[in-house]
Amino acid sequence: MAAKRDYYEVLGVSKTATEEELKKAYRSLAKKYHPDMNPGDKDAEAKFKEASEAYAVLSDPDKRAKYDKFGPAAFDGSAGAGGFEYSSADYADMFGDLFGDLFGGAFGGAFGGFGGFGSSRSANSNAPRKGSNVKTTLRISFMEAMQGVKKDIEINYKESCPNCGGSGCKPGTSPVTCSECGGKGVITLTQRTIFGMAQTQRACPSCSGSGKIIKDKCSKCFGTGYVTRKKTVTADIPAGIDDGEGIRVSGYGEPGTNGGERGDLLVQVRVSSHPVFERDGYDIYTFVPISFAQAALGDTLRLDTIDGQVEYELRAGTQPDTRIRLRGKGVPVPRRNERGDHYVTFTVRVPDHLNKEQREALMAFDAAGGGTLSKPEKKKKGLFK
Ligand SMILES: [Zn+2]
Ligand SMILES: [Zn+2]
Repeated sequence: MAAKRDYYEVLGVSKTATEEELKKAYRSLAKKYHPDMNPGDKDAEAKFKEASEAYAVLSDPDKRAKYDKFGPAAFDGSAGAGGFEYSSADYADMFGDLFGDLFGGAFGGAFGGFGGFGSSRSANSNAPRKGSNVKTTLRISFMEAMQGVKKDIEINYKESCPNCGGSGCKPGTSPVTCSECGGKGVITLTQRTIFGMAQTQRACPSCSGSGKIIKDKCSKCFGTGYVTRKKTVTADIPAGIDDGEGIRVSGYGEPGTNGGERGDLLVQVRVSSHPVFERDGYDIYTFVPISFAQAALGDTLRLDTIDGQVEYELRAGTQPDTRIRLRGKGVPVPRRNERGDHYVTFTVRVPDHLNKEQREALMAFDAAGGGTLSKPEKKKKGLFK
């Protein structure tokens, strides 16, 4: 049998470590080596188990005292010195206490499923848990996205059943403790492997991890403990939001359990496109057609921006596809007092129909500049055919 590492050494703490220090050390190791974070990594799994075992012993004052006195032998079944079995209850307490917030909070979103240890999150069925987030989509117009908008959204709001007070039981009755798991919500499977006995935990199939069985169901909520009603929530969309971005409305998700807070409503915003304005990041792009005369002579233009029209002095001799920048006329950056720019590209229109006067004027214009037309006479004749 391989010698066990010293529990204090495993957790990287001193022999005089406080309860808080032990907890902190274990949490950081658990985060690093948890099987969910290291799928298929046997080495990480072994380290996780080693740390869990060390913490299970050292976090219990009685066991810690025993360990300090007798060393690891005290917890080696074969040594028989008041052998400590690493029971499922120890796991349950640890996971309920530590992983409840470790994964439910910081890692809840990113690592949805909690697979490695079966249903460890529900191991302690009495720990407060935050409700699930609810997702919805909201479509707004381009200008609403530019200016910011408050929108009412109708959602299905799940809340505690008023008939049974959330218990799910017919009024006057109460749930009974699940006999399959003894109310723990988890069952422990012990298997013999080539490395010895291995214990795994699964959510109890009889009570789905709740630890309780409802015999007489509430007729209003059918035993779920929840009813759903329509509720209107106002989503405050900040100016500058882009298509596909989302906002979070805190506290409008599903209700938490055992006094845990409600989840959040996550609103994904879809922004309709605009016939004139094109957005790229925080900049706006538009294309403005101008005539040859305007390009050549210059002009005072009124340009459309998301703030309304602005006056612009077009320089004489503006070339086709000239792009100018209207600084600070672009998209507002949400929650910052900044804006992108608005770029205007001038496209010069070439007339595809000329009346007699225009044609003569253009011929005269060409001749006045020295003449670029190869057969001006022929073009002139064509006019009177
Ligand atoms: Zn059960
Ligand atoms: Zn009910």
